[in-house]
Amino acid sequence: MIWITCKYTWISKHLEGFGSNPKRYDKAREPPIVPLSEDLESRRANPATTRAGALPYPGADLMHIWELLDEPERERLEAIRAFFQDRVRPESIGYWNREEFPHHLLQEMAAHGLGGIQVDGSSALFKGLVYVEAARADVSLSALVGIHNELIVGMIHELGSQAQKDAWLPRLTNFAALGAFALTEPGHGSDIAGGLSTTATRTGDEWVINGAKRWIGSGTIADFALVWARDTGDGQIKAFIVEAGSQGFSATKIGNKIGLRIMQNADLELDHVRVPEANRLPGVTNFAEANELLKHSRAWVGWQAAGVQLGIFDIARDYSLTREQFGQQIAKFQLVQLPLSEILGNAMASLSLMVGVARLQSLDKLEMVQAAMAKATTTRLARESAARGRALLGGNGVTSDHEMAKLFGDTEILYTYEGTYEINSLIVGRAVTGVSAFV
Ligand SMILES: Cc1cc2nc3c(=O)[nH]c(=O)nc-3n(C[C@H](O)[C@H](O)[C@H](O)COP(=O)(O)OP(=O)(O)OC[C@H]3O[C@@H](n4cnc5c(N)ncnc54)[C@H](O)[C@@H]3O)c2cc1C
Repeated sequence: MIWITCKYTWISKHLEGFGSNPKRYDKAREPPIVPLSEDLESRRANPATTRAGALPYPGADLMHIWELLDEPERERLEAIRAFFQDRVRPESIGYWNREEFPHHLLQEMAAHGLGGIQVDGSSALFKGLVYVEAARADVSLSALVGIHNELIVGMIHELGSQAQKDAWLPRLTNFAALGAFALTEPGHGSDIAGGLSTTATRTGDEWVINGAKRWIGSGTIADFALVWARDTGDGQIKAFIVEAGSQGFSATKIGNKIGLRIMQNADLELDHVRVPEANRLPGVTNFAEANELLKHSRAWVGWQAAGVQLGIFDIARDYSLTREQFGQQIAKFQLVQLPLSEILGNAMASLSLMVGVARLQSLDKLEMVQAAMAKATTTRLARESAARGRALLGGNGVTSDHEMAKLFGDTEILYTYEGTYEINSLIVGRAVTGVSAFV
């Protein structure tokens, strides 16, 4: 007992010592998280109703990661967090249940500049933390913001012609237009790089595209699809802007998904679709060029995985403090504090890894091996966190009425898209052994 008291006094004394450091982390600066689990309806009606201000570490940033941003980016991120927590998170549950897309939120997202974070000079860390805040509130909309920036705006900006940039970037960056990234096919997922079978045949100033695509995000609502097809002339993979409404192009929504239910994934059919040569991205002459950008989008899923784990933690902590069993808050039980600690530990490990990825990105040193390792590791941890969080809510963990089931399902998608867990692990294995184990 004496030992414990002495130790406590020692810790308190030494922790207080940090007070003299002017850079000391100030918890009060963290915007509060709005918890929803206690009374969902009243919280939806009045998002300002929150106990979070009274919680220790309301933003759960135990590693002081948000502090790494400079002041203007931190302030911008605070506004973005408030938007996602107050506007997106409460509304998203109904849209997720109905598998519908909340079109009206696009304008509000545009007002926060979320359509153009890829090209507005934001730091890699800021961009990553935007994805975290988005995924913490809703994984589908974080997928929309991520795919839009990393794979549509980024591709056109880096690999498009000047005319394509002039035509699309102003509208894309304020969400007046959406693109869909169409790579995966019904017969080719993990082996898409070698197996891609959609064809593009040059006839004069046009290309004729034939084939099918599967799982394409925003496929039914986008203004165009960025379609990856094999040139029947040289056998190389090229990319084409195929506008919705083109003759021979059709998109059919894929329903009944267990996660990412707000994202409108689609099967695309391309039946002799004619596109002008001007719609081909001149910067893509083979798959290697696309891979350069795909490694960054792979890393983006790591930020999503970190964000969803913070969302899982927010919900689990809130529930543990409000739910009573055996006459007391379940937060008082050791076996409830254990998963809370595990979830937050996983979230912080994921975030810290992603900060390392952002550092490599800002030094232009990110390679596919680090992106694959980060994607695989964070999504593995996210899956574990989702299972812990789901169990912590008991029966209420299996219904999206208490949010957790929504995050549980969404986490499964993170594990699989942008290269499955297994494929990303094989990329890491090949890089560190020099031996490919793909086939
Ligand atoms: C909700 C959702 C959204 C998506 N959004 C998009 C999108 O917007 N655009 C797009 O282009 N794609 C998208 N995808 C596609 C996604 O990238 C693929 O699902 C993913 O790459 C896996 O391909 P597959 O589903 O065909 O699985 P398969 O490749 O058929 O894999 C099946 C299983 O086999 C394993 N496997 C395969 N090959 C090997 C191997 N060599 N060694 C060991 N194991 C192996 C896999 O890991 C997996 O477990 C999305 C997918 C989902 C589910």
